[in-house]
Amino acid sequence: MKEKTLAIIKPDAVEKQVIGDIIQRYEKAGLHPLAIRMMRLSKSMAEGFYAVHRERPFFHDLTSYMSSGPVVVLVLEGDDAIKRHRDLMGATDPKKADPGTIRAAHGASIEANAVHGSDSPETAQFEIGYFFSTTDLVAR
Ligand code: ADP
Ligand code: MG
Repeated sequence: MKEKTLAIIKPDAVEKQVIGDIIQRYEKAGLHPLAIRMMRLSKSMAEGFYAVHRERPFFHDLTSYMSSGPVVVLVLEGDDAIKRHRDLMGATDPKKADPGTIRAAHGASIEANAVHGSDSPETAQFEIGYFFSTTDLVAR
């Protein structure tokens, strides 16, 4: 089933100059970008985005890190896009991520792990709406 998911190329990956490599992986996997936006999150935008994690001990560090430099936010579309994107990303901790995944290739730590991906249809809907309006998504 055709789905949309939200991806973020996180500050560590932008700093490492692997935006192109990561987008190429999406394209090769048939995850088609419908919208791409480079931006710098404020601390409060990062807090709103990660609100589900607000009780976690790493919440402050995570939102500081996510607002520490530019990110690239994308809406990707494809068959089973949410799960296939998660598979392409690899485990949260890059040390545990399967070889060939984005996090194994580019993640620096469990926090600075190169990419974000929505984890369910409900999350994807919230996360896409957090950054984009419907008219920003280009049909293809
Ligand atoms: P994922 O991004 O794989 O869905 P989570 O939703 O559990 O992982 O966590 C959101 C983000 O919070 C992670 O991508 C990572 O940047 C950060 N994070 C998760 N667990 C930890 C941790 N134990 N210590 C520091 N940061 C963490
Ligand atoms: Mg998550």
